[in-house]
This record gives sequence, structure tokens and C-alpha cells, in this order.
Amino acid sequence: MATNVNKVLLSQPRGFCAGVEMAIKALGWMVRVFEAPVYCYHEIVHNQLVVERFKKLGVVFVDDINEVPFGYPLMLSAHGSAPEVVKQAQEKGGVVINAVCPLVTKVHHEVKVRAKNGYKIIYVGHKGHDEALGTVAVAPESIELVERVEEVSNIEKTSQPIALLSQTTLAQREWSEILDEANKQFGTVWTAGKSDLCFATTNRQGALEQVAIRSDAVIVIGSPNSSNTLALEKLAKESGCKNVYRIDGPDELPLDLEGIVGVTAGASAPQELIDGVIEKLNPLDGIEVVDVTIEDEYFPPPRELRDLVKILSGLLSLGIGKHIDSSKILGQDRNLNASEVIQTLA
Ligand code: SF4
Repeated sequence: MATNVNKVLLSQPRGFCAGVEMAIKALGWMVRVFEAPVYCYHEIVHNQLVVERFKKLGVVFVDDINEVPFGYPLMLSAHGSAPEVVKQAQEKGGVVINAVCPLVTKVHHEVKVRAKNGYKIIYVGHKGHDEALGTVAVAPESIELVERVEEVSNIEKTSQPIALLSQTTLAQREWSEILDEANKQFGTVWTAGKSDLCFATTNRQGALEQVAIRSDAVIVIGSPNSSNTLALEKLAKESGCKNVYRIDGPDELPLDLEGIVGVTAGASAPQELIDGVIEKLNPLDGIEVVDVTIEDEYFPPPRELRDLVKILSGLLSLGIGKHIDSSKILGQDRNLNASEVIQTLA
């Protein structure tokens, strides 16, 4: 037990974002409506506990649509899928629900429009990450992916206009360094407003910046393949904090922590992991919430799921001879909390 911790600075916002809430609740619906197995293309979100819990309920995660048998229900993950993958999924003959975050869809749209208008697109993202793979595949002939600022100078000069787009979950500094370098190399490049970094990414980073400068150690809760979690870890280190630990959950918490400990969590880390870490830290002087903004974004269930609920309530109405209002069922979604869904599924 880590008993020498005086105080916890709890970064706010932290944990589940609106996109992750939507995707988890949607898969929660699917496992209730369909008999196992339900298939999911890529991890629904990059968090070990979430994925394991759905596996226990009969969700089979695949990285290739060819592994999905014909006619089985299939969900496409929150990170967004390549157009070819969406087409292949639809040809499988089963119900397909696309849980892509609307903010990733927005970037896909920007790629489509810029490519159509003759731009060369520099896409800042992590090679091999599901979101980057899906976005690049929207217009592979027009995109060049860069991960580090040094790579910008390797891009071949062109007479085409240049657009700079990015993965939604990068560290703010990672993005702005590359933007400065691209402007230097190519003149003014086109970007979408400020950047493609989503509100959840920037809010969590903004709060952690305040926490990290006051902390003797920082705990970032989230899985190693979660891009926004790694961005939080990077930011805490860059803020000058000497002891930064990324952990999946309470079991990995170092036991020799002392003084003031900052705690945050990536956008795919459930509340029960955060609660478990705080319980184990057991700070002598309690918890101070460092709150930089109120996040009240809500993304409704994917369109295909709303249609499915309408059909099912129609059928049920016929069976019992009483009207069942699908809008009421769907209306309850806003008050449902994905962390609770995860706990109920345990
Ligand atoms: S981190 Fe941002 S882009 Fe990713 S699911 Fe959450 S809101 Fe959407």
C-alpha cells in the first residue's frame, strides 16, 4: 500500500470522452440484442479492461474482415475504418454498426475534400495506429504520413497546395512543432481551424499541464496502445515532472510514491480503474480536483443502431399489441454512463 502520499491532484477532465462513451454503449447494446458471437473490427477502444470484458461476453475482436463469418453482427471501432473495410463489412450480409467517432469522420471528410481539390496532404499521425490507418486509406495517393518533425524535410517539394491534417489524439506540442516546420518548408499550409486535435485530447492535456507542474509524481492511467494516453504521459514528462508512470490500472501502481501525486486517465480508461488507483494511493490530506473545463459533449448512438432499435421496438409492439416508443429507449442513452455499462457487463 502506498501510504506516504500526502495529496492527490485529480486532473479534470480525465477518462472517457464522448466518442468512447458512444462506442462502448453501442457495443453494450449489441451484446444484449444479439447472441454471441458479436464481431468487432479492431479493439472497440484501446483499453485492456474494456476489451477483456467484452471478450468474456462473446465479442470476437478481429483485425481482418475476412475473419468474420457471413451473416454475423459486426461493429466497426471508434477509431474509424478505411472505406474499403466498410465496404467489405457491408458485403458480409450481417448487421454492421459503425461506431466511428464523429470527430474522426470529420478528418476523413477533410481528407476527401482536400484530395479532391488537388492538395497534397501531410498527415501527422502514428504509423500503424488504427485511426491513422483508416484516415490514410481515404485518399492514399494524396497523403504522406509523418510522425516526427525531422520527417517534414524529407517530403518532396511540389507545386500542389499543401494541407496539414492530423490524428485527433496527438500531444499538442507534437502537432504544433510539425505545423511550424511545414509552414517553414512549404509556405503557409492549409489546416482545419486550429488543428484536428479533438476537444477531449486538448482538455485532458490542458488539465494535466496544471497538475504536472505541482506534482512530485504523475500517474497516467491507460493502455500502452492508446495514443491519447501516451500523449498525456509525454506531456507530463515535458512539464518537468521527474516521476511519470503510465499504468493500466491499480495493480501496476508503484508502491514507493511520496508527496503530491497527480492523477489523470486517457480517454479510453474506465472510471473503476481511476477509483481503484485513488483508493490505493489513499492520500493523507485528501484529493484536490484541478478542473480546467466542463466537458458536456454527447454523441448519440451510431445511425445504424438507432435504426435497429426502431425496427426492434416496432416488432416488439406488434408482438404485445402495445406501442413501444423507440425514441424513449434511445433518449435514455444520454443518461447512461459507459463506465456503468462496463461494470454491469463484469
Ligand atoms: S479521443 Fe477525441 S476523437 Fe477519439 S473518440 Fe474521444 S472524442 Fe473522439
